[in-house]
Amino acid sequence: MMLGLLLARAGVSVIVLEKHQDFLRDFRGDTIHPSTLEVIHELGWLDRLLALPHQQVPRIRAQFGDLALTFADFSTLSTRCRFVAFMPQWDFLNFLAEEGKRYPTFHLRMRAEAVDLIEEAGSVIGLRATTPDGPLEVRAALVVGADGRHSVVRTKAGLSVEEFGAPMDVLWFRLSRQASDPTDPIGRFDAGRIFIMLYRGDYWQCGFVIPKGSLDQIQARGLPAFRESVAQLSRFAADRVDELHDWEAIKLLTVQVDRLRQWFRQGLLCIGDAAHAMSPVGGVGINLAIQDAVATANLLADSLRRGILTVNDLHRVQQRRDWPTRMAQRMQLFMQDRVIRRVLSESGPLSPPLPFRLLARFPFLRRIPARMIGIGFRPEHVRTPAI
Ligand SMILES: Cc1cc2nc3c(=O)[nH]c(=O)nc-3n(C[C@H](O)[C@H](O)[C@H](O)COP(=O)(O)OP(=O)(O)OC[C@H]3O[C@@H](n4cnc5c(N)ncnc54)[C@H](O)[C@@H]3O)c2cc1C
Repeated sequence: MMLGLLLARAGVSVIVLEKHQDFLRDFRGDTIHPSTLEVIHELGWLDRLLALPHQQVPRIRAQFGDLALTFADFSTLSTRCRFVAFMPQWDFLNFLAEEGKRYPTFHLRMRAEAVDLIEEAGSVIGLRATTPDGPLEVRAALVVGADGRHSVVRTKAGLSVEEFGAPMDVLWFRLSRQASDPTDPIGRFDAGRIFIMLYRGDYWQCGFVIPKGSLDQIQARGLPAFRESVAQLSRFAADRVDELHDWEAIKLLTVQVDRLRQWFRQGLLCIGDAAHAMSPVGGVGINLAIQDAVATANLLADSLRRGILTVNDLHRVQQRRDWPTRMAQRMQLFMQDRVIRRVLSESGPLSPPLPFRLLARFPFLRRIPARMIGIGFRPEHVRTPAI
């Protein structure tokens, strides 16, 4: 959506296909990071975006066993917005879709699911999609796979994937919110358990992190036992765990971390999770996907408008975004292996790992995670013109 908007704004004709009929999905996280907000400011849309209901989070706190600490302090960043905006992603996407209506070359097709590529002499020249009105064929100078971590586009393109693995999956469910509840996001690490709660207005979006592949065992222990664990971790919301009537209310989100060796082929490019599936650790995947979109527009808009796009241009996108992606994934894999794996396998009292103890002891160190999460490794700026 972001790439489509930037290209349309620069005078390129774009069609964005979205397989669902709306953006009301839960699975993507709700964070809009300082560097994404900077991009929105550069586009002149910041006031309109921040007029939508959201929560400004200047600090991320975590509870590690008995140790409560501030993990990242965004107020130290030198950006226009020194906070992460928590906004349901469907509001953000609807906002972008509205902005898109201002550009005559921006076309958004909902309920259009990409199912195959159209190829000619080894080049991708378009794609096939299914829609409620029947099959759709789109011919294009460039097909961009921005279809997330289960990308059909990258599979059909036969691009080779490097898998890094993840020790966990996430059970995703809601608990109602009461007026006396806090509004800060909550991250709790206890022996064998990690629990997050994200404020979403009238309810809490909860993530219960479980060892990968352990859902069957958890279900075998029964729903009352699961509710009991949630009650212990959610504390102030313990009186609401009966809202989890059945397992249907609890969705399994599978976590994967991977990266394409090559993000492109003649006529095709993958970005965002389709090029590099991100773990939820640090909540950096949305920002990274948007930074990919900004860089892609910066590097390709002119060639696309003039009809002179080559495979070298696509290579330049990967060259630009490969390093920040590797760094963000390295950070996620470090946290997965050194912290999450350990916490999930622990059964006795939990002692916080060294990075957490250092962050608790030396407040100035909180700038480091703030920078890695809030801005990322190679922040991009909008260089495309508004035509
Ligand atoms: C449990 C969990 C929690 C997370 N929490 C956070 C967080 O708080 N903050 C954060 O920054 N990151 C978070 N992430 C990572 C984040 O979700 C991704 O990195 C980010 O969403 C990637 O953006 P994307 O646009 O590439 O893909 P997506 O957000 O997955 O978007 C892909 C879009 O393509 C559509 N689509 C898919 N297939 C097709 C098709 N065949 N045809 C047409 N449309 C299609 C989908 O419906 C979707 O709208 C989390 C990940 C997980 C697993």
